[in-house]
Amino acid sequence: MTAASTSPIEAEISANLAALNARIAAAAAESGRPAEAVTLVAVSKVQPDARIDAALAAGHRVFGENRVQEAMERWTGRRGAYPDLRLHLIGPLQTNKVRDAVALFDRIESVDRPKLARALARVIAEEGRDVDCLIQVNTGEEPQKAGVLPKDLDDLVRVCREECGLPLAGLMCIPPVEQQPAPHFAFLAELADRHGLPVRSMGMSGDFETAIHQGATHVRVGTGVFGERDYGDKV
Ligand SMILES: *Cc1c(COP(=O)(O)O)cnc(C)c1O
Repeated sequence: MTAASTSPIEAEISANLAALNARIAAAAAESGRPAEAVTLVAVSKVQPDARIDAALAAGHRVFGENRVQEAMERWTGRRGAYPDLRLHLIGPLQTNKVRDAVALFDRIESVDRPKLARALARVIAEEGRDVDCLIQVNTGEEPQKAGVLPKDLDDLVRVCREECGLPLAGLMCIPPVEQQPAPHFAFLAELADRHGLPVRSMGMSGDFETAIHQGATHVRVGTGVFGERDYGDKV
């Protein structure tokens, strides 16, 4: 792309992505891993179209969304234009949205109960789509937060693997906002190790380097890529 065809928004997002990728590579190196060991999932929820398209123009292809309906509106049309797009669902999933989610997403990061695991396994098999899943763990045991409690993880892994054959790739967590995140990330990595699960989705704009130091393979960054989500009336 020539400089003349680059809009200010494209320049801004492209610079944000370059800076983030450099920080991710540095943090990966500090944890003794190559940059490719960590994938940046750009969290595009609530972002205006111009910012999404700018990230795509900059070559970014892995995006996270937390609502099925919103993601369908944003991505269904764009999927065709970007065959190498990878969409991750990072928000809670109701069983009545499972079919829509499986049709759109490549990875579901928020499996947190046996009923949802069974519904996903059935629909993934029926649709024959190449979708895999992460179990979200409520490491802080917060009552209002989604995710399986750590004490119930073993049983949910067993349901996924032995009972319904859900393709399980790893674990995801969102630490309590008011606590130091590092112990939560270390705990998630330990749980993933225990179950032989390679993928660890942890870390957001404010703490992704800490997460990488604790073994994150995927970091979910929204504001760091796109800017603040509060756009009001402007784009
Ligand atoms: C919104 C969101 C993020 C990104 O948060 P930022 O602080 O904007 O980077 C990450 N993970 C989940 C589950 C989210 O809902």
